[in-house]
Amino acid sequence: MVKRDRREYSRKYYKKNKERILRVSNVWQDKNRARVIQNSREYRKNNRDKINKYYREKLKIEKRIQAWTQYHRKEILKERGENCEICGSKENLQLHHEEYIHDFDKIHILCRKHHEKLHKILRRMHES
Ligand SMILES: [Zn+2]
Ligand SMILES: [Zn+2]
Repeated sequence: MVKRDRREYSRKYYKKNKERILRVSNVWQDKNRARVIQNSREYRKNNRDKINKYYREKLKIEKRIQAWTQYHRKEILKERGENCEICGSKENLQLHHEEYIHDFDKIHILCRKHHEKLHKILRRMHES
């Protein structure tokens, strides 16, 4: 594809998938960030054991869902389009889980760059 066509393509892609893209980018500019961080910091201090147990369970579930996603990867990409939902790139596509449940709609397709960026922001949001 020549550069101009590619630009036209991602413009069309953005138009078609605007809602989904906005939903992903919403996470990036969470206005309640400071409050969320403060609350989770206190909660963590007071509930350490409970939280450790929760994360162990969560990890088990995440692993299971990740295996499930990996198994359906081709199908998901075919159904949703093989493009990063942010920039439209076709390179190094990865699947991001908005929520760890068996639901294709909770999976976002992102290029490696945007996937890493999103996780950096998510980490910052939840970090103490
Ligand atoms: Zn991207
Ligand atoms: Zn992810």
